[in-house]
Amino acid sequence: MSPRGWALVTLAGLTVALVVVAALLIPWHRPPAPRADQLAALRDLPAEQVAKGREFRAALRPGGYTALAVGLLVALALGLTPLGSRLVEVVGRPFGGHWAAQAVLGGLAVVLVADLVTLPFAAWRQSVLTRYGLSTNGWSGWAVDLLKSYAVSAVIGAVALFGFYAVIRLAPRWWWAFGAAGAALLVMLLSFVLPVLVEPVFNRFTPMEQGPLRTELMSMAARDGVPVRDVLVADASRRTRAVNAYVSGLGPTRRVVVYDTLLREATPAEVTAVVAHELGHAKDSDVAVGTLTGALGAAAAVVALYLLGSWGPLLRLAGVDSVAQPRAFPLLVALVTVAGLVAAPVQALMSRRVEARADAHALALTGDPVAFESMQRRLGSVNLGDPDPPRWEYLYSASHPSTVERMAAARAYAREAGR
Ligand SMILES: [Zn+2]
Repeated sequence: MSPRGWALVTLAGLTVALVVVAALLIPWHRPPAPRADQLAALRDLPAEQVAKGREFRAALRPGGYTALAVGLLVALALGLTPLGSRLVEVVGRPFGGHWAAQAVLGGLAVVLVADLVTLPFAAWRQSVLTRYGLSTNGWSGWAVDLLKSYAVSAVIGAVALFGFYAVIRLAPRWWWAFGAAGAALLVMLLSFVLPVLVEPVFNRFTPMEQGPLRTELMSMAARDGVPVRDVLVADASRRTRAVNAYVSGLGPTRRVVVYDTLLREATPAEVTAVVAHELGHAKDSDVAVGTLTGALGAAAAVVALYLLGSWGPLLRLAGVDSVAQPRAFPLLVALVTVAGLVAAPVQALMSRRVEARADAHALALTGDPVAFESMQRRLGSVNLGDPDPPRWEYLYSASHPSTVERMAAARAYAREAGR
């Protein structure tokens, strides 16, 4: 069988694996929170809080969707016309058109163009966040964060680009197989190693001071069978008023991280509810499942790009002879951008199901639906969410159930428990 034939078989195998993993490990069949409870929860929220959340979300919308559209147009303009391949060529020229210069510098230039075109929208978003009092880091802090994230992505991007095109040169007929394995490995590396390396670039972490809350959180984790080494406080207030918590690390390195904003804004019972939700993620290995589906998806994407990349009309549009050239990188970016936009609602749906399961875990672990509901109210009001967002936006991009859904889940739990 030819490499192309094997690629088809591999793509079919990866697709089946992805579907099986998603079907078995994502809790698809969670009963939705009763709509009557959701509407009752919405009525119970202060009208001005609902109005402010909706106003804020509406203020973000035009820039957000324009940025999405502009990003897509730029990716298509670079990838489906010879513009992008020419850019890669020009950037590689001072180095005699060496493949490594084209691959790394040309590739980064393509990404940089896309970043710069959407930069005004990012700045505009920051101005909205500041106007609504959600961002606290000021323009210089914002710029420093932006440069840090550019630097982190440039380092990872350079390594990935060099590795990818080096493999193509070493195995011109079978690069897609190595590329697929490499992409899967990279996803795992980014998921498990990156948080440990990158978190300290953006935040400082200090152990939570000894006291009843810390004791309660540690003992709850032990009771849940998810022992944690430490409870850390992140200095998130440097840049935001938003509140959050998460669990990171595996096994002996597992730790609970709470934002200092959460400790400042919420009652101890509410902090406990948030941490119980995060322990649910750890207990159900949600990060591992997400990483597995991401790795399978990335491997399938590389094989699909290889197969699509032998399609003549596409190559002619991009002005390249083969998808394996660094000059064809903009074409790959265009295809990946389109695939990302198409996959977004599916990823959002999977995420909402997993989040709803973590909510159910939190309710069962704490047995305190009142604290859970007041935490949801607080999250919604501090983070200026729309408690019951427009359906289309919810379906396309909501990673979590809405505030009223989460409040309704608490009410349904309270009824069940009272029985
Ligand atoms: Zn969660």
